[in-house]
Amino acid sequence: MADKLHRPSREEVLDLLSELVRIDSVNPSLVPGAAGEGQIARFVARWLEEAGLEVRLEAVAPGRPNVVGRVPGSGGGPSLILNAHTDTVGAVGAKRPFEPIVEGDRLYGRGSYDMKAGLASVMLAARGVMRAGSSGDVIVTAVMDEEYASLGTQAVVDSITADAAIVTEPTGLRICAAHKGFAWLSVETHGRAAHGSKPELGVDAISHMGRVLGQVEELGRELSGREPHRLLGAGSIHASLIQGGTELSSYPDRCVCQIERRTVPGETAASVEAEMRVRLDSLRERDPTFAAKLDLYLWRGPFEVDPKETIVSVLRDAAVELIGHPAVVYGDTPWMDAALLQSAGIPTVVFGPGGAGAHAAVEYASIREVALCAEILTRTAMNFCAG
Ligand SMILES: [Zn+2]
Repeated sequence: MADKLHRPSREEVLDLLSELVRIDSVNPSLVPGAAGEGQIARFVARWLEEAGLEVRLEAVAPGRPNVVGRVPGSGGGPSLILNAHTDTVGAVGAKRPFEPIVEGDRLYGRGSYDMKAGLASVMLAARGVMRAGSSGDVIVTAVMDEEYASLGTQAVVDSITADAAIVTEPTGLRICAAHKGFAWLSVETHGRAAHGSKPELGVDAISHMGRVLGQVEELGRELSGREPHRLLGAGSIHASLIQGGTELSSYPDRCVCQIERRTVPGETAASVEAEMRVRLDSLRERDPTFAAKLDLYLWRGPFEVDPKETIVSVLRDAAVELIGHPAVVYGDTPWMDAALLQSAGIPTVVFGPGGAGAHAAVEYASIREVALCAEILTRTAMNFCAG
């Protein structure tokens, strides 16, 4: 059966990807007043319905639904989620961001690469599976809000489960089997306000923050010396934002620093918080006037899939067969929705077409790789869902 699969033609890819790029779906949480995912969700839903899938729109935020489409299996096989986000970042700096321009193998436009190319691959693959038939269900989740708070995929894992998932963020047809996580922390140092001429009364919260920053640097060096993760290397930490003081002639009573920590598998919110707390405690032991409050206020876990998972080997086999050489397995640096799916107990890999320019003024996707990716996803879905 697999031999009868058909690779989407250049025209089919161009038609679909151009339509997707033409629909402004800038995330309104990133750019206030932006279009959001309503129109693109309706387009994706209609397209999938015409391809024969069972489709529903699921409201996540006002006017910003997820699309959930199901290729119903004939029964008995494992189920697979194909996940792509419908939102994009803003289009500042691009001349005509929603006008697709084709040059050779490249289709230019906002969101073409991140990740309407991956979304098109998923849609074409679902249509391929629909035509060929499958034992297990293939579930398309076209999700909103990945570029901000991942509300879309969060809603998916709250209501749907499956035996595996593929997130089609652009990987250039490589298999991404791990990515870093991140934590945002804030440290607030407390001093004592006093007239600048009375040093015996004042405690300088800004210079106390200087000691914290010294610890951040030292921790960064310690992290880079730790045993590196096989695909991701070491975790890291840096200061991002700092604020303190009210005027020149006063001792500042307060200074706040926001710190970002990039994490690798094995590191947890608790371990990340603890390694910072130990350092603040040691500053306090050395100087009783030192006082600081630590808060880990956002945690996005790192992602890693066991290379022995069935979905990894089935995808690897389909890729080598259709690309003609083994797909590179690698770890990526940015956080993705894969972490949410994986931590919900769904073995997940990231695999999508190539191009360049994510979040940049000039962005393009490879038309050929969208077609190839769709075919690889179709074959992977059919083999995986056959059980
Ligand atoms: Zn993306």
